[in-house]
Amino acid sequence: KPKIKILHTSFDYKTRNELMKELFNRVNNLKKTFLVTANPEIVYYADKDPFYQQKVNQADYVISDGYGVILASKIIGRKLPERIPGFEVMCDLLSLGNSHGWSAYFLGAKKEVLEKAIFNIKERYPNLKISGFRDGYFTDSTDIRNEIHTNKPDLVFVALGFPKQEEWIVENYSEMEKGLFIGVGGSFDVMAG
Ligand code: UDP
Repeated sequence: KPKIKILHTSFDYKTRNELMKELFNRVNNLKKTFLVTANPEIVYYADKDPFYQQKVNQADYVISDGYGVILASKIIGRKLPERIPGFEVMCDLLSLGNSHGWSAYFLGAKKEVLEKAIFNIKERYPNLKISGFRDGYFTDSTDIRNEIHTNKPDLVFVALGFPKQEEWIVENYSEMEKGLFIGVGGSFDVMAG
């Protein structure tokens, strides 16, 4: 199905189920993927900032995270099927990873928050392989990029908040051979709590 453009952001017309099936296949086929879950703040910001806009529109998938986006699509006349929150996509991916022995890398949040989140993730998803984690307060990405490049995780969760997380992904993504890269905002804080 064709994408739906809201301001300057093009959304994929997919249910959560359809999305998860496609992501599952892409990860299994080692197909590199960049996914953005965009809420109204992201859509608005992308409309004002052409550089960010260009980055978001490089994504393989742009999904509606936020009821405001669904509402806007309804007004345009092609209502998106459902809201798919980034946190839920992350949980679905962790579950799939747990069932299929995938590996995951976690980048972002404060050190203590990240460590608590990793502790909880290990407990809830014991078969998921943790290929590395770094807090989100760094000045140089070289080590992080090298670590991901070497470990080749199936999933890379980037929790730096927007616009940083999408910018980080676009800056570092081209060097990677595989992996599903997704910006997940404050999800590590939720996972830690
Ligand atoms: N964050 C980070 N590095 C930064 C700025 C933010 O790791 O330089 C983390 C922050 O600790 C939090 C997450 O990004 O865990 C999301 O931040 P925020 O709630 O501001 O973003 P949003 O959820 O609105 O995208």
